Amino acid sequence: MSDCIFCKIVSNEIPSKKVFEDDLILGFYDINPEAPVHVIIIPKEHVESMVWVTEEHRNLLGHIHISIKSIAKQLGLNEDGYRIVNNCGKLGGQTVDHLHYHLLGGRQLQWPPG
Ligand code: AMP
Ligand code: ZN
Repeated sequence: MSDCIFCKIVSNEIPSKKVFEDDLILGFYDINPEAPVHVIIIPKEHVESMVWVTEEHRNLLGHIHISIKSIAKQLGLNEDGYRIVNNCGKLGGQTVDHLHYHLLGGRQLQWPPG
């Protein structure tokens, strides 16, 4: 997608501070962090949101979750815990239309979210 911010991060047209990368996914620090640790994890393939996920993405989503687990450990979040968030669509608060997960940690997070 030519006008997608996260596709441009994948292609390095927009710079990012990467924490993890492999053939399928990319993890980078959020530009506007909501917690001491705030990382965005995306598939390199442009998928608009959870609404557009299909059975074909089953392995990709498993890979994302297992990789987030590794990133959390690497960033020292295992002991105190962390949160993984996916915002989907308008009511879910999604502002970038490329499927992504937030990894948040380093402070006490509140529940329920607003
Ligand atoms: P969401 O509101 O769930 O769609 O989350 C989008 C997230 O992407 C927000 O937390 C933004 O701060 C973050 N974001 C937007 N542009 C960039 C960028 N160029 N680099 C890193 N994070 C970004
Ligand atoms: Zn995209």
